[in-house]
Amino acid sequence: MTVDFDGTTVLVTGGTRGIGRAIVQKFAEAGARVAFTYRSSAAEAEALVEELEEQGTEAFSLQGDVADFDVAQSHVDAVLDRWDTLDVLVNNAGITRDGLMLRLEEEDWDAVLDTNLKGVFNFSKAAYRPMMRSGGSIINISSVVGTTGNAGQTNYAASKAGVVGFSKSLAKELGSRDVNVNVVAPGYVQTDMTDELDDDTRDSILDAVPLDRLADPSEIAKSVLFLASPAADYITGHVLHVNGGLSM
Ligand code: NDP
Repeated sequence: MTVDFDGTTVLVTGGTRGIGRAIVQKFAEAGARVAFTYRSSAAEAEALVEELEEQGTEAFSLQGDVADFDVAQSHVDAVLDRWDTLDVLVNNAGITRDGLMLRLEEEDWDAVLDTNLKGVFNFSKAAYRPMMRSGGSIINISSVVGTTGNAGQTNYAASKAGVVGFSKSLAKELGSRDVNVNVVAPGYVQTDMTDELDDDTRDSILDAVPLDRLADPSEIAKSVLFLASPAADYITGHVLHVNGGLSM
């Protein structure tokens, strides 16, 4: 399916690496104007903007922590200043701080919830008014773990389950304003985040995935573009599981 996003303005949080980067690239290939955020990977951000501009895409990057309420407002304002509208917001930035509950520190809880859940609130709140006026699409990245749970990830699973409840509630608030709010819940994807897994964990994950491989980030990005496209106009409050059959 090739969808034309010519003239569509897109903001992706955490766009420098992994899934976020693939989402940025897919929207750019489809003709969109793309802004993306990052926290510390300035060199990657600069290189990605250059790459996109060479392909003829209008693009820029924004540095800041998604957990900071004012940062989110200033990032959305920057998109509106440049392009007047924000059509698609993808809340992708996320982190893990894994550990069994016994050893999990308060700061591990706070960092993960602040980034993965409060970050989604911050950017959605900043986009709320402009999208109420002109319609749009918000797509939040959750995880299979938000549905199944996972030992050693109480903080992460709570944040990702929170994203689902948040998104369904926001979908009900914004439906009459022509704003669709949906969730993509990936399984295990080949990114820096999963590079941290040891071989035994990786093998046991693969044993449980009927498609017998990790996802490529581009496969998650394609699902995001589908939900942002006219093909999904009547879909809101939905959780699209993209996990190779890991959880059915
Ligand atoms: P990566 O670690 O590869 O990339 C994370 C991106 O988010 C980077 O661009 C990073 O920027 C940015 N980021 C992280 N924290 C912040 C912050 N506080 N403020 C701003 N930007 C931030 O992650 P993935 O691509 O693997 O994951 C992307 C999303 O998909 C996450 O929400 C994750 O939970 C979810 N997911 C991932 C799965 C996987 O298997 N990889 C499976 C299921 C869900 P910088 O480099 O500058 O820090």
